[in-house]
Amino acid sequence: MRTSLVIANWKLNGDAELLKQMAEHFHQSEIQQHVSVVVCPPAVYLKTADVLLNAIGIAIGGQNCSEFEHGAYTGEISAKMLADCGCNYVLIGHSERRSLFAESDAVMAGKVQQAQAAGLTPVLCIGETLEQREAGELEHVIAQQLSSACKEIDFENLVIAYEPVWAIGTGKTASPEQAQEVHRMIRDWVAKQAPETAQKIQILYGGSVKAENAAELFSQADIDGGLIGGASLDTQQFDAICQAAKDK
Ligand code: PEP
Repeated sequence: MRTSLVIANWKLNGDAELLKQMAEHFHQSEIQQHVSVVVCPPAVYLKTADVLLNAIGIAIGGQNCSEFEHGAYTGEISAKMLADCGCNYVLIGHSERRSLFAESDAVMAGKVQQAQAAGLTPVLCIGETLEQREAGELEHVIAQQLSSACKEIDFENLVIAYEPVWAIGTGKTASPEQAQEVHRMIRDWVAKQAPETAQKIQILYGGSVKAENAAELFSQADIDGGLIGGASLDTQQFDAICQAAKDK
């Protein structure tokens, strides 16, 4: 039996006021006692989030971490630094990092290893573009992204987020059946690498999840929650999505 997990990815949005609003709301809602809830604000707000959210049972995470531990890497933030700010999670390989900041498959393993060494749970984001899907390359792309990132890592401390690139921030959601098919593919892949972990690992869906479509997506057998972008900036809507994960 896997616990549901819902992660908010604020991207380059939000501020201390939104964190305050969220803390006040979730203090009343108490959904976090039934579903694991994580908020990933921009890094400069992590210390505030540590005080406001960790205190009420909502974990916090970084949106990215360096593949390096320390050194002359201007602008980078290490996994250890995120842990020092109160993080328990970190997103790795989000499609915006891959496409806008040229992060290749080659750096993912280092990031996952750094995150685990710092005691964080990496949330590895993978997903195909529309062109890749239409060209019949879906399974190959997913396997390639997984095998590049999952080298010498602990599968017991890993979350995988399936986010079809064509569904992120576009308003187009994968159908529950399309998402389930890929989640099953991912779980089968994990079963080949770490058979004892395959039924335990949490696999999240991300891509235009909203209050209206969350329940149907989360009802699928291999979907254990969601990675939520735009809709996580609206506290009421984010709460409704967390409720849908609870009702799974
Ligand atoms: C995301 O950023 O991971 C995401 C899924 O965004 P959105 O929910 O806005 O599509």
